Amino acid sequence: MSPGEYARLLAIVCPPESVCWLCRGTLGPIRHDLGGRHRLGPSLDHVVPASKGGTWDLSNLRPAHQCCNSARRDRPPSIPRGVRSSRWANAGRRGT
Ligand SMILES: [Zn+2]
Repeated sequence: MSPGEYARLLAIVCPPESVCWLCRGTLGPIRHDLGGRHRLGPSLDHVVPASKGGTWDLSNLRPAHQCCNSARRDRPPSIPRGVRSSRWANAGRRGT
């Protein structure tokens, strides 16, 4: 995985306005303006971790914050306590 290839995939999987699939936007939008090394910067997360045979295929990649990606490691995505799966999309939004 070269930096150029990573950037190409990132542009496809994690375009501007993308919502982090791990925190569902609870931490705010993915900040492309802060760069990929910032904790809220963009990263590519593997649905099936690479260590468990996951590939870099687009179907196995999701947009995520750097901090959410590194916190997850190889665990499955956490479900916010008390929030049913169908309500994930609205979790953390103001005024709802
Ligand atoms: Zn996140």
